[in-house]
Amino acid sequence: MKCSLCKSGETKPGKTTVTLQRGDSVVVIRAVPAEICDDCGKYFLDEVPARRVYGVAEQACARQVEVEILRYAA
Ligand SMILES: [Zn+2]
Repeated sequence: MKCSLCKSGETKPGKTTVTLQRGDSVVVIRAVPAEICDDCGKYFLDEVPARRVYGVAEQACARQVEVEILRYAA
């Protein structure tokens, strides 16, 4: 699909690293399936992976984890 950020690149399926911050917690999730723009590098998550990574971030915040690095498990 066309990138909605730069409007010139095309997005392609791939894997990306998502970093999220919730309060004082930082969560890094590797190998998240995403559509990635070949021009500006912006990634777009599908609904399911997006919900999962946000859920993980909420849990880390609830446990008051400072930094957590995870691998996305399909
Ligand atoms: Zn783009």
